[in-house]
Amino acid sequence: MKDIIITIDGHGGCGKSTTAKAVAKALGYMYIDSGGMYRAVTLYFQENYIQLTNLKDIKKALAAIDIQFICNPTTETNEIYLNRLNVEEKIRAMDITEKVSQVSAIQAVRDTMVHLQQKLGKDKRIVMDGRDGGTTVFPHADLKIFMTADIDVRAERRQKELMEKDQLIDFDEVKKSLLKRDLMDKTREVSPLRKAEDAIELDTTHMLFHEQVEEVLNLATPKIIEMKQQNSAT
Ligand code: C5P
Repeated sequence: MKDIIITIDGHGGCGKSTTAKAVAKALGYMYIDSGGMYRAVTLYFQENYIQLTNLKDIKKALAAIDIQFICNPTTETNEIYLNRLNVEEKIRAMDITEKVSQVSAIQAVRDTMVHLQQKLGKDKRIVMDGRDGGTTVFPHADLKIFMTADIDVRAERRQKELMEKDQLIDFDEVKKSLLKRDLMDKTREVSPLRKAEDAIELDTTHMLFHEQVEEVLNLATPKIIEMKQQNSAT
């Protein structure tokens, strides 16, 4: 095996997904948007009126959910499909964002998603962004990044992202929503957001996008070379 697993965890709005996508593209790896998976489950629960307190219904719903990543040939990046429908845009809507942390805190949901993520990563060659990539999903990942950034910068970036999707949301509302999600993700019982002990912290507050990507690629390259050398020695 000469390839590696890269996990990029951290708070919302740090630039995890854009960085992960670009790193995956540069390395020819698969990008796994684990947050997108929790968002897709949230969308399914919303559309099918699943009560978050009814474990029986939750389990039934999870068994009916099929999540796939399919590469968009124009953007050359993976997009998420829920039961064969592209939901890439739908899952970024504010109503889903507001509910996703509640859904992602459910043990049965996490068990199902973690299992799927591990299956996707079985041949390595992946870059996954999320909250628990380096702690729970791939505790033996070859490179673990933990991204942070100042809350105002995160809110600004998230607001810009939403604006590009024609969603005009007030800055304070975006900031409040990010802080609320951070708190729920950090304090939930199951697999809370935390930095893995062996993760490298990357504060992106003053970094430009291309600098973030370069930094991760600079950290990944020696790991890939090391893996190739180990491979040829055996
Ligand atoms: O990364 P994104 O903002 O799309 O994630 C949406 C939500 O999904 C997070 O706020 C968190 O509640 C949940 N999530 C998670 N574990 C992951 C990725 C995301 O709990 N690995």
